[in-house]
Amino acid sequence: MSVSADLTRLIVGLFFGIVLPRVPLLFFTRFLNMERELTPHPDPIPIGVPLIQRLLLMRRIHGMCWLVAILPLSMGILVLNSSPEPFAVGLVAGVAWFILSRIVPLHMGRGFAILPLSLIQEINNLREPQTSCCDQQLLQWEVRTIRCKNCRDVTLILPRPDLGRIRSDGRLIGALRILLMDGHSVFPPNDESIVGQGVELLGKVAEEE
Ligand SMILES: [Zn+2]
Repeated sequence: MSVSADLTRLIVGLFFGIVLPRVPLLFFTRFLNMERELTPHPDPIPIGVPLIQRLLLMRRIHGMCWLVAILPLSMGILVLNSSPEPFAVGLVAGVAWFILSRIVPLHMGRGFAILPLSLIQEINNLREPQTSCCDQQLLQWEVRTIRCKNCRDVTLILPRPDLGRIRSDGRLIGALRILLMDGHSVFPPNDESIVGQGVELLGKVAEEE
């Protein structure tokens, strides 16, 4: 068989290996209408029961991705056991990338899962915060931080992960973004962002002048 045919099968296998484990993430939230209780994307989401419920649901869906990943992985390994089929090599490589993207933590302090329970607990605690920033405290999760809607006081610097809302950039681009980012925010946690530190530094310099 020609090299180009082998290469095509390898790429098709890779595509399936990458997409299949993420099908629950792409389908269950975006293509079923579950937007009732949350604000539309990309508006900030108030810290409340609907948000916590959505976080728990997203956690379950991320878990479901692992279950779905078993099928193409075992199929690929089974085929590879009998013959070096390029499609199976691609399939196994694609699923391996999914596994790697899940087990390598982006932030050491926050656990290994994309939505660790400790994080959901932390946000749940903010429903009844210990300290209040102003008289009409109204915490909401913006793209990069959780802060008060009224006084803009930042409670927690935490980039918002994908919460399964139908994205404002459309289903297709939204789906592509999910495939690339796996539900993570495009923003790194603030303390690790070189750009963020640069902007802060520039701000300080501007203040001093
Ligand atoms: Zn406030």
